[in-house]
Amino acid sequence: MASNLHRNGAQRGSAKFDRPLKPRPRASSPSPGSGFRRPNSATRNDAVPGRVRVAVRLRPRNAEEEMADADFGDCVELQPELKRLKLRRNNWDSDTFEFDEVLTQSASQKRVYEVVAKPVVESVLDGYNGTVMAYGQTGTGKTFTLGQLGEGDTSSRGIMVRSMEDILADLSPATDSVTVSYLQLYMETLQDLLNPANDNIPIVEDPRTGDVSLPGATLVDIRDQQSFLELLRIGEANRVAANTKMNTESSRSHAMLTVHIKRSVVESEDIVSTSQNGDVSHLIKPSKPLVRKSKLVVVDLAGSERVHKSGSEGLMLEEAKSINLSLSSLGKCINALAENNAHVPFRDSKLTRMLRDSFGGTARTSLIVTIGPSPRHRGETSSTILFGQRAMKVENMLKIKEEFDYKSLSRKLEIQLDKLIAENERQQKSFEDDIEKINLEAQCRIMEAERKFANEFEKEKLKCQMEYMGIVKELEQKLVLNQDRHDCHADNGEGPAQSSADEVAELKMLLETESNRRKAAEEEVARLKWQLEKYTQPEEGGCFEITKLHNLLEDEAHQKKKLEEEIIILRSQLLQSNYEIEQMRRCLEGGSSGSTFSATDSSVTQVRHSQFKDAANGQKSPVATLFEQVGLQKILSLLESDDANVRIHAVKVVANLAAEEANQKRIVEAGGLTSLLMLLRRYEDETVRRVAAGAIANLAMNEANQELIMAEGGITLLSMAASDAEDPQTLRMVAGAIANLCGNDKILMTLRSQGGIKALLGIVRCGHPDVLSQVARGIANFAKCESRASNQGIKTGRSILIEDGALPWIVQNANNEAAPIRRHIELALCHLAQHEANAKDMISGGALWELVRISTDCSREDIRSLAHKTLSSITAFKSELRRLRIDY
Ligand code: ADP
Ligand code: MG
Repeated sequence: MASNLHRNGAQRGSAKFDRPLKPRPRASSPSPGSGFRRPNSATRNDAVPGRVRVAVRLRPRNAEEEMADADFGDCVELQPELKRLKLRRNNWDSDTFEFDEVLTQSASQKRVYEVVAKPVVESVLDGYNGTVMAYGQTGTGKTFTLGQLGEGDTSSRGIMVRSMEDILADLSPATDSVTVSYLQLYMETLQDLLNPANDNIPIVEDPRTGDVSLPGATLVDIRDQQSFLELLRIGEANRVAANTKMNTESSRSHAMLTVHIKRSVVESEDIVSTSQNGDVSHLIKPSKPLVRKSKLVVVDLAGSERVHKSGSEGLMLEEAKSINLSLSSLGKCINALAENNAHVPFRDSKLTRMLRDSFGGTARTSLIVTIGPSPRHRGETSSTILFGQRAMKVENMLKIKEEFDYKSLSRKLEIQLDKLIAENERQQKSFEDDIEKINLEAQCRIMEAERKFANEFEKEKLKCQMEYMGIVKELEQKLVLNQDRHDCHADNGEGPAQSSADEVAELKMLLETESNRRKAAEEEVARLKWQLEKYTQPEEGGCFEITKLHNLLEDEAHQKKKLEEEIIILRSQLLQSNYEIEQMRRCLEGGSSGSTFSATDSSVTQVRHSQFKDAANGQKSPVATLFEQVGLQKILSLLESDDANVRIHAVKVVANLAAEEANQKRIVEAGGLTSLLMLLRRYEDETVRRVAAGAIANLAMNEANQELIMAEGGITLLSMAASDAEDPQTLRMVAGAIANLCGNDKILMTLRSQGGIKALLGIVRCGHPDVLSQVARGIANFAKCESRASNQGIKTGRSILIEDGALPWIVQNANNEAAPIRRHIELALCHLAQHEANAKDMISGGALWELVRISTDCSREDIRSLAHKTLSSITAFKSELRRLRIDY
């Protein structure tokens, strides 16, 4: 028997369809998918290639076929072990085709799920998008394969039901979510099967990412399998009802079930802890919360026979065309992709627009082609097989979609902040308690020593007094005795000389004894003194301890200061997150970020008015809270912190505060302007300079501040920054600040003499439209003030702008394609043109032509008529136009 083997270009074996069923690791650990590697965090955004997998499934003969085809063999013969299918041409010839999987008429629903859908479901759980699709002639088992609910017989559950079982088992309900939509596409109209009244759902494509979404479709949260089955039942009932109403059958429509999965993943390696002096860390960088979004799309396509039999019975012409449109577009797209054509006509039909990601996109796709055995449908079966063969050649690039979860980061930061504040308070309290206890102890010991000393002293004193009194008494007795003896000697006639000598000797002895006693008393006093000193020793010990405690206190104060700085950093990070959330929210709502001049660039913390609006709603903005809790003076003092990181955060916080008019006065009064100018002078890193310039630009919106900035030499510093900076954002801030100063009549001449105009013109080297727009605004402001001064007679002669060489740039940009630049320059030209003294330079510099253009083309009526008025009133212009024979 002759046989032709059709082998596809796609490599076999490199990515096996029926990968071994291993337990799948959780989302946070790498899992090798079948044929595609799960990227690690560093390469997460990289795509991995993955071919569209195609399986063929043969339906068993049904009763009608058993009867009608009883005498004929099947038109196909399967060789599942070789993954081959033979399609008989006639009795002696057949074509052989290879598929990724060949499923015989006896293949169980479980096996079909495991080889066709399970790998897709697993990669959806890993964060990739996935599609499972059934293609084939009506009655070959597409709905049986995908949509069987298996209520009577669990073994007959189809792919939809089994997929959801696996999804729900893998997700954790606390952090992850599943939502489902169910739609029908019929005659190029999308109808919501969960809300049939909604029967014209638009398809929206994100022009940036190409992602397709259906914002009008009903999304139902799925918590358990039961609610999903209920939803499928409702969808099916609605499908039947809709088809009855439209007088058609479900085989003519495409049904599409989309399961959206959102799961949280945490990058654990990002948790870092710093330790100070071996202590436990005070600041733990929060882990990076990410949300992984993916979706599984299950598509039950309309019967493929419609493509070929467009004139089929029962089909209206319009219907036939529409059904053909989607399915035949799908065929064309797959052909184009299989042949690597440069153009793939995805946009031709709604079906292909919706499935763009599934073929040649970033989703993992499995296609099951269903065929029947009957030789009567050989033609249909053959074209179905060829469709499957072409689809096998389509390569997709799989990608994980992860988003930063700002909300949860913000929540985490807030919790951490609260913990730090509480911990700080606890430490402070226990430290104060300790000091009090030690003080009390020292006091007690001193008192005890004093008391002991007083007692001893009193005792010694008493003893000495007693002894003294005893001696005095003894001496008195001796004196009396001597007196008596003396009297007696006198009576006996003994010579006084002898008795005197005795007395002297006796007195000498007494004196000696007294001296000894005194010496002993002195020694006792010395001993007591020494003892007293000893007693006061503990007091000194106490003093030592107090000094130690003082040192500790100083250390703690230092620590506390550091903690406060860290808290400010955390708060500003929180602020940044909040701002980004706010911006994202506004972005999502489609709002613009406002047209007011923004002082800080978008990559820097920035407080927009909306955040302050929160304060008006009774909820304080983070900055306002920061203001109250930390105090402006404290924040400003951090601008001079030794720690560069703290300095950067502090300047961002100040810039945020300066963005709000209500704070500007307080900032200037507290010396903030001086500090910001100091930062500009110090020429630190680019971020500090950019943010400082932004804050100065905001402060420079106020007239009083403009004079202060000039008085503090601000224009010189801004000019220096203008000539040094390279970064467009910094230049935009600097130009914005100078532009604001240009609008003040009082400082016009100083501004010029200190090089303000030259600096502004120097900035145009940057070429960035946002920067040029600020320069143009400055020039327009200056021209307006100058014109006013000329009208009042304060100024005479040529314009300073012309003298400083601005005219060529003005003329060059008068018709700039960026509207804000053009508008400012047009205004500046009109102001300059009002004064006869400028006319000569303007004519020779080509500005006259621009004026003529403005007077006719400018979109703003007031500028147009100002130009017109000027041209018809300035003599030099009139005569030049006459000379050129321009009738004006
Ligand atoms: P389709 O959706 O392609 O039009 P269905 O899924 O409605 O086809 O199947 C048509 C009929 O064939 C149904 O009655 C279904 O139960 C039956 N059927 C389809 N495939 C099988 C199969 N593999 N085993 C048993 N019965 C099947
Ligand atoms: Mg069907």
